[in-house]
Amino acid sequence: MSLVQVRQALPAIPVALPSIHGENIDLQALQLSGKPYETAEAIIIRYRNMFSPEKCRWFRRYYIKPHRGSFAQNRYSVRYVWNMNNAKADRTIGVIVGEDVAAAQILIGNESAGRSMTGIRWELCEDRDGEEPIAIGRFDPWSLLQDISAADLQRLKDTKDLVPDVTHWDFDSMLLNQNCQSCHRPVTINYLVYNIDSVRCAHCGTRPFMSRSLEQYWRARLQAVNTSDGHTYHPEEILAHSIAWMAGVGSKPSELMCNSLPAGLKSADQVLQNLLKASKVSNLDTPRTTSPGLTLSAVSKLQKLSGGMIIEKSVRSAASALQQQIASGQPFTKVHTAMAEMLRAVSEAI
Ligand SMILES: [Zn+2]
Repeated sequence: MSLVQVRQALPAIPVALPSIHGENIDLQALQLSGKPYETAEAIIIRYRNMFSPEKCRWFRRYYIKPHRGSFAQNRYSVRYVWNMNNAKADRTIGVIVGEDVAAAQILIGNESAGRSMTGIRWELCEDRDGEEPIAIGRFDPWSLLQDISAADLQRLKDTKDLVPDVTHWDFDSMLLNQNCQSCHRPVTINYLVYNIDSVRCAHCGTRPFMSRSLEQYWRARLQAVNTSDGHTYHPEEILAHSIAWMAGVGSKPSELMCNSLPAGLKSADQVLQNLLKASKVSNLDTPRTTSPGLTLSAVSKLQKLSGGMIIEKSVRSAASALQQQIASGQPFTKVHTAMAEMLRAVSEAI
């Protein structure tokens, strides 16, 4: 059995596919999910090799069945084998004239349009036993269309009204859709290839996927912080995690649009400022006796640490730098992650 080999580059095909990156997104802001020197195409090629037809444990079999009688006119039904043990359950997905492999492959793709087929190969065979495969491949536009010429495509369109429905041929479910929370436009990202937190709406700059994830994280944690029943979430912990998360993709608080935060909170920068205020090591510059976040005992505990004076100074600087950074609306960086991490570590130590 000769299997179709997946090539080292994405095959050229005579059809315009939906973008392999996504739609309505700021391409400059995107970060690859793979190694930094890879390209989007290289990541897709690696994935195709990982799930190449010969490695697929499962298959979906189609075969051609000649029509009989005086009206047959060299016509064949393309049949799908739904149940290997029951030929009566086979289904015709289309009719082709002669062994028109191009037409059969487009029918196979259209028949599975909208489905997730990773790990399943398609087989087009001479008969339902599959002893003589005509063509085998993986479910994706490149495999199904790589041997089809532009002339064949035009011929099938003109004579049979047969067109590959490539907008629904995302068989690996690479593309993820969401409406932007701010401008409500649809945003699509290839999340096999890109870190979805790095996605920014091309129209308004909101980060739709990250907004949703961080909002869910905050909803779960902030409610726990606000209760006094001995929960385990500390504001410093949530702050450090949030800043590391945002710094990972260079996000600004204003790029997060969170519409259903816990009571009283309206925006990401408000959440971050509140966490900073709630921290027991962050309010060292406010009058010591009135600040709810800081007590004299926190200061005295800090000073008792080895190097206490310097640590206290560093904590003051870090807290104030973070406060200013949040207020400035500029993107977080690794430096801010380090500061927030220091506040977390010190708060654990005292
Ligand atoms: Zn938007």
